[in-house]
Amino acid sequence: MAKKSKNPAETEHSANGLTYPDYRVPPGVGVDLSSVDAGQSEGYTRKKDVLGELETQRRRIQDLQGKLYAENKQGLLIVLQAMDTGGKDGTIKHVFSGVNPQGCRVSSFKAPNPEERNHDFLWRYHKSTPAVGRIGIFNRSHYEDVLVVRVKNLVPEEVWRPRFELINNFEYNLTRSNISVIKFYLHISKDEQKRRLESRLADPEKRWKFSSNDIKERAYWDAYQEAFEETIGETSTEYAPWYVVPANKKWYRNLVIARAIADTLEEIDPKFPPAEEGLENATIPD
Ligand code: AMP
Ligand code: MG
Repeated sequence: MAKKSKNPAETEHSANGLTYPDYRVPPGVGVDLSSVDAGQSEGYTRKKDVLGELETQRRRIQDLQGKLYAENKQGLLIVLQAMDTGGKDGTIKHVFSGVNPQGCRVSSFKAPNPEERNHDFLWRYHKSTPAVGRIGIFNRSHYEDVLVVRVKNLVPEEVWRPRFELINNFEYNLTRSNISVIKFYLHISKDEQKRRLESRLADPEKRWKFSSNDIKERAYWDAYQEAFEETIGETSTEYAPWYVVPANKKWYRNLVIARAIADTLEEIDPKFPPAEEGLENATIPD
């Protein structure tokens, strides 16, 4: 693998407080997103450099997911958040290809419908959390209820601010029920968002993804960055950590996320259940 000897990310690590090379946010430490280079890639320069390792990480995820499913005692919730065009959909497609769909479910969250609005804000998310034996992926999540609602003034501060604690308690409750929680913020630069929006507009096969709302949302870039920074600082915990993933290079983003998921599954350490007793004498009749 072509790796440059000098690694810009390594020196950056101490400045922005993220652990390296997993980009985990330690509990109780704020994150300054403007100091995290969204274009960094550990010295790798091309997609080709990481394809081998990405495949290795995918295999680890597939093997461990097979055990998680068979064991049926522990689960994993993966939260994906990002600015528009940040790459949530692409991550799901590339990191989870090859994972047995029987043990994995993606839940995508849009603005709440009237029924959902008539419940507490966590209701619709709680219903979609994975059972033991399963992996659940949240494409947007309960974090929208401290992000978009804050930036767009959909609810007052005295409503959204206490949600940090409610979210931490919700995630703690999940981990106490053997559902591990990890959260990824896919970090792109404002320039990169412009390029991606332009390419969505220009390419007939991508145009369906373009929403004129994306242009309106882009005007709130700074307010979103501020909201993400505070949210990540308040809710990166020992039991449910955030990772701030450099995501301008899609192939590097996929690699970082695949590694973190594989490492987390390895920590969960699922095991195939023991075989039924007496099987050594079993024969299959003709
Ligand atoms: P997309 O993911 O591009 O399909 O867009 C989904 C939209 O739903 C985004 O504009 C989100 O901001 C919005 N959304 C998701 N969750 C919430 C929420 N809890 N409250 C308000 N808007 C939300
Ligand atoms: Mg969108």
